[in-house]
Amino acid sequence: MSVRQQVQNLLDFIDASPSPWHAVKTIEAQLATQTPAWERLDETARWTLQPGGRYYVVRDDSSIVLFVQGQKPLAETGFKIIGAHTDSPGLRIKPNAASSGDGLLRLGVEIYGGPILATFTDRDLSLAGRIAYKNDQDDIASLLVKFDQPLLRLPNLAIHMNRTVNEDGLKLQKQTELPLILSALTEEQLPQAYFSALLQQQTGVAATRILSWDLAVYDTQKGAFWGAENQFYADSQLDNLSSCHAALQALLSGDTQPDTTLVCAFFDHEEIGSQSNKGADGSFLPDVLQRIALSTATDNEDYARALAQSFMISADMAHAYQPNFPNAYDSEHKVGVNKGPVIKINANQSYSSESVSVAMFADWCEQAEVPYQTYSHRCDMPCGSTIGPITAAKLGIRSIDVGSPMWAMHSIRESAGVLDHDYLIRVMKRFFVAR
Ligand code: ZN
Repeated sequence: MSVRQQVQNLLDFIDASPSPWHAVKTIEAQLATQTPAWERLDETARWTLQPGGRYYVVRDDSSIVLFVQGQKPLAETGFKIIGAHTDSPGLRIKPNAASSGDGLLRLGVEIYGGPILATFTDRDLSLAGRIAYKNDQDDIASLLVKFDQPLLRLPNLAIHMNRTVNEDGLKLQKQTELPLILSALTEEQLPQAYFSALLQQQTGVAATRILSWDLAVYDTQKGAFWGAENQFYADSQLDNLSSCHAALQALLSGDTQPDTTLVCAFFDHEEIGSQSNKGADGSFLPDVLQRIALSTATDNEDYARALAQSFMISADMAHAYQPNFPNAYDSEHKVGVNKGPVIKINANQSYSSESVSVAMFADWCEQAEVPYQTYSHRCDMPCGSTIGPITAAKLGIRSIDVGSPMWAMHSIRESAGVLDHDYLIRVMKRFFVAR
């Protein structure tokens, strides 16, 4: 596949995944097209695993762990893991969201994680997520829901009423100025009933049976290439669906009978700190690894031996240098778009990279003939973090934080470089086969 096709493939993946629940569904759909087949494991059932078997586990619709069972005993090889996250910052619909006034129906929102709120104004927004409902057998079930048409909008205030917006920046009062316009409403129409009817129409589930929902706001604009020679691309959720996509391609295109057990772990809830039943700070990955060990008759000591020789690449996006804002960067640690994966280093362990894991990753880059770069944040600005340090601490395994360089992290329209996606896939593939 050409480098450009690979990115088109990524953009299609993102556009099919407007919420973390959809991201897991999209991954599952891709697995269903593969040979040898992938088997979904149920956490409530007993597992029987075979060497060379390809398995995945989904926890609560929005976190997924995939693995190819290695040919050799775990204690001889350890696990090779790539971690990333399925969620992106943005707006989520509140439970009693619908309100009316001045002939308009608006939906109240909560801010999920740390989005650049100003970028949500004047966009063709819509809704995606899942509903929980009582099915015909009176069991609680969940169903994904996605509205395709632009359904919602946050119109800006005209500059005539906000004269200093270009000097002061666009500031939005979080409680009062973020509700999204959904519809015009007559006085007789009840806002909550109107919204419930809309969910019924979209899901085919009677409104009286819909008991709850998780709904994210997403941008309906599709991903696109840009730049005079299409060297760049833009879409929502590059952070971090592009890392999930890269890891998935590396796993799917690799050896079907590896010696080592290869794992991809994609977690929800990274943007809000990872602490949940399915987040990186929860039990999901430790549970799956331990069950792999148990179902291959590995005892506790051999499981500890396996972890002691495991490695995790925590893949999340990195901040590319934007020359309009030189003062935002450490001048000795500028990383460029289309110049290769970024190794993220922070002495305070906001990133899990340390000299040995950095050297190992650099070596895999060299073996894959992929350029790489090193990033360190300015000392006078707080540094972000990701799942690397959390997972490394939980499992006690060696880890590194890397990612493709990008612009406008946490904007609703982020951008990155075409070459970097290919570079990341190549080094991930190398990692899976390296000794
Ligand atoms: Zn991220």
